[in-house]
Amino acid sequence: MESKHVFYPGEPLEPGAMRVTLLGTGTPFPRRGQAAAGMFVEAGSHKMLLDAGPGTPANFTSLEIPFDEVDKVFLTHHHVDHIGGLDQFWIGGWTYGRRRTLRVWGPPGTEDIVGHLRGIYEWDIETRRRVFETLQGSEIEAVDYGEGVLWEEDGIRVTAFEVVHTPPHNTFGLRIDYAGRSMVFSGDTKKCDALIEQARGVDLLIHEAFPPVEVYADKAGRPIELARIIAEQVHTAPREVGEVLAETRPRLGVIYHMYNNDDVIGPALAQVREGYDGRVEIGYDLMVIDIGDEMRVRPAVVSDKPWPVRRDRPAGH
Ligand SMILES: [Zn+2]
Ligand SMILES: [Zn+2]
Repeated sequence: MESKHVFYPGEPLEPGAMRVTLLGTGTPFPRRGQAAAGMFVEAGSHKMLLDAGPGTPANFTSLEIPFDEVDKVFLTHHHVDHIGGLDQFWIGGWTYGRRRTLRVWGPPGTEDIVGHLRGIYEWDIETRRRVFETLQGSEIEAVDYGEGVLWEEDGIRVTAFEVVHTPPHNTFGLRIDYAGRSMVFSGDTKKCDALIEQARGVDLLIHEAFPPVEVYADKAGRPIELARIIAEQVHTAPREVGEVLAETRPRLGVIYHMYNNDDVIGPALAQVREGYDGRVEIGYDLMVIDIGDEMRVRPAVVSDKPWPVRRDRPAGH
């Protein structure tokens, strides 16, 4: 089924196109209506996750895509809102159909974190193994990366570049290229030259932003000085996102890592607009972006209570 206005699970990807589905657009503050950070990217025959924050595995399963088709996760950094769903994606993916090793690329320290997860879930895997009688798909492998090309296959290239979030710890943004299409995912960063260089002229730039300082301080009950440090020294203020967009001019800019409340979105967009007149949207969970001749943005219409995908019946049934 294909619709101009909404996306239904199961819609095929056009050859040469890339599709990005926002699995989570929120922050470390857990909210029922907004998962934390996570992007799902489809390019050619490959599917991958960029970050895996809490709440994102449930949004992934609502897309009714077999776990076996997704064996790659690229992490931008190790804050809980970006990795807190990795364990559920790993174990749930194994027990509901992934038969391949889950591969995780992340900044220095990722191998350690994945090693800890193996220890934490040893009991889980051992007990389930006795029931399922297989360990195939329960394996998880990690690679610590630095700047540069992380993975390249079948014309798809994933590149990491260093951004500025919580120095001296390394945090990265990610760029994906496929068939002349390109996207950049900022991860978490303050306004940063390396990102501007990577994102210049891309089709899609997904950039983080924090709510305007005054709004955040008021709503979250933070002292204004602390709010300013969080919103401008650790993250990017909406006004600065406007500046980044003006310098990079992507075909589509999408802002994530926001509190998507009406009283935040209005002031945030107004600030972005001070410096940018191009196409920009506030990202929301299950926003589907097709990167092709046209940049198409649609909300996914999904079941809140999906079943695991069965090979013998199509998605949406
Ligand atoms: Zn972070
Ligand atoms: Zn974050």
